[in-house]
Amino acid sequence: MRIVELRSDTFTLPTEAMLRAMARAPLGDDVYGEDPTVRALEEKAAGVLGMTAACLMPSGTMANLATLMAHAPRGSRVLTGQDSDIQVYEAHGVSVCGGVALEPVATDDRGLLCGAALERALPEDPDDPQFSLPAVVCVENTANRAGGVPLGPADLAPVRAFARRHDLVLHVDGARIFNAAVALRVGVAELAAGAGSVQFCLSKGLSAPVGSVVTGSAELIGRVRRVRKMLGGGMRQAGVIAAAGIVALDTMVDRLEEDHEHARLLADGLAGIPGIEVDRVVVRTNMVRFRVAGPGITHQGLIALAARDGVRLAELGRGTLRAVTHRGVEAGDVARAVSVVAAIVRAHRRAAS
Ligand SMILES: *Cc1c(COP(=O)(O)O)cnc(C)c1O
Repeated sequence: MRIVELRSDTFTLPTEAMLRAMARAPLGDDVYGEDPTVRALEEKAAGVLGMTAACLMPSGTMANLATLMAHAPRGSRVLTGQDSDIQVYEAHGVSVCGGVALEPVATDDRGLLCGAALERALPEDPDDPQFSLPAVVCVENTANRAGGVPLGPADLAPVRAFARRHDLVLHVDGARIFNAAVALRVGVAELAAGAGSVQFCLSKGLSAPVGSVVTGSAELIGRVRRVRKMLGGGMRQAGVIAAAGIVALDTMVDRLEEDHEHARLLADGLAGIPGIEVDRVVVRTNMVRFRVAGPGITHQGLIALAARDGVRLAELGRGTLRAVTHRGVEAGDVARAVSVVAAIVRAHRRAAS
């Protein structure tokens, strides 16, 4: 049975071209700065993001961690969305390893930090030593738990202005920033403008097997490299990873549009099922948030039964299910996912009535 994997875009497998590039990549010891393929990827990534330097990371989690540690002194604070990956899914690494407090900030239904909540996070008196000072404000683009909403330059303007006004660094957790750029039809550098750092994942929709890249100024990236080594993220012949990353940046960006189209199809199909509610307005990139409305079946039950029919869905928490489209999901898979969910929900509604 063909599996329709909708739990995450992290399930994407490397392409044939990636595997060929990985096999042939010129290699060196990247901890010495001598892996030519890693250097080529970093140069390319910095250029695409409109930054001066970049550093390959083993994961998005370490990319965020090393960057925030490079930005924020011990005893300072990092402001981040209450539902952000940094707040929810990264084990509070920056607090554990960096002595930095993570301060969750309320976000709106698109994942944007609320202006009033940001203001409340400022110390009453920055000169009074009893208050810790915020050093960084983080924005996630796309905002994962908000349903993958892409945030454009106009959406980002207030938080950019806030950071500038209060002398904070703006860090963009751009795990899916290429999805945002493609959906909004803007250059990814426009979404990076005004940020002190941007991290993006090669390992999600871009389909590389491993890796993230942090981009920023040369000075910042020098400090990020030091923290990366400290965290154990210095990787020797990392060109094998970087080679796939180069192919990802060269060939996997424009095709994200197809994933977005499939997410729209999936949202339309699911919305047509009596007993399923879809958050239609937030379907802008490769994610669909939905829930079972009314009696019949629990979310855990639906996930288990759909998995038996080869359709893998995930729970997002707070009574919501999530389906993520990616290169491994074709139009036929979308249709099959809709019919599998429809059949399960129909059978349970009938039994419940
Ligand atoms: C996936 C993700 C990360 C972490 O990346 P990993 O490579 O899984 O560690 C960080 N931020 C966001 C928004 C993500 O979606």
